Amino acid sequence: MKDSSRKQSAASPCAACKLLRRRCAQDCVFAPYFPADEPHKFASVHKVFGASNVNKMLQELPEHQRGDAVSSMVYEANARVRDPVYGCVGAISSLQQQIDLLQTQLALAQAEVVHMRMRQFSSPENASPTSSSRDTHSHHHQPSKSLFNMEMDDQDNMDDSLWS
Ligand SMILES: [Zn+2]
Repeated sequence: MKDSSRKQSAASPCAACKLLRRRCAQDCVFAPYFPADEPHKFASVHKVFGASNVNKMLQELPEHQRGDAVSSMVYEANARVRDPVYGCVGAISSLQQQIDLLQTQLALAQAEVVHMRMRQFSSPENASPTSSSRDTHSHHHQPSKSLFNMEMDDQDNMDDSLWS
């Protein structure tokens, strides 16, 4: 696989060397990850990180991790080009907000399940509709209080897991 990419780079320069207008050497560090047919990948990485920094970062990594490093750098660089203010942090915080919202909804749904189970156990099966409407004012204070506590506990756990 490495041989084939080297043959390819010998025939024509990789996307990095083409953009930098330099000769693509046999051992070009960019060639395996920036093929000539995907010039936009190196263009955005070069714009955001700079070619020499990308070169340095790749040199410092073992070869089996360089592909992943290039993928994440391309992702970060594209996000920064799209959103010059927040870059990929914009995506992270938007997903974080979704997680917060969904965890709140999950906690509420779980509390509702517990609430329904408690009503099922506490109210007799043969309760008539008239007695239940009469009950609305003195409505099971003990279960609803423990439900509230449970919900708060869930939120505490949520905060812990978000920032640990
Ligand atoms: Zn090259």
